[in-house]
Amino acid sequence: MTIFQKIIDKQLPADIVHEDDRCLAFRDIHPQAPLHVLVIPKKPIPKVADMKAEDEAVVGHLLRVASDIAARENVQDFRLVVNNGAGAGQSVFHLHVHLLGGRPLAWPPG
Ligand code: AMP
Repeated sequence: MTIFQKIIDKQLPADIVHEDDRCLAFRDIHPQAPLHVLVIPKKPIPKVADMKAEDEAVVGHLLRVASDIAARENVQDFRLVVNNGAGAGQSVFHLHVHLLGGRPLAWPPG
C-alpha cells in the first residue's frame, strides 16, 4: 500500500485542502513553492502510463480541481507536474498532480 493510499484511508494525517468522491488534494510535506498541493485520484492508478481509457475523466477532474485550488489561493500563474517513473522523479506510485505556484517558475524544469 502506498503512503497516498494511507492518506486516502485517513490512516495517515495530511493537510487536506479538497476532497470529493473521486479525488483528494493535500499540501506537499516538502513544499517546493509557497503553493504546493498534490491532487490524487481515489482510484489507485500507479502512474500515467498505467491509465486506461476509463481513467480519462478522473484524471481530467484532477486538473480542474487543481485549477480551482489555485484560484481559491489567489494564485493566477501555476504549474501542474506529473512525474511518470523513477527516472522522471516519481517516488510515490499513486498517480498525482503537483500544483506549484506562488513564486516565479523557470522553464525548462530540471
Ligand atoms: P513524486 O516525487 O512526483 O512521486 O512526488 C511525491 C511527493 O509526495 C513529493 O513531493 C513528497 O514531498 C510528497 N510526499 C511524500 N510523503 C508525503 C506525505 N506524507 N504528505 C504529503 N506529501 C508527501
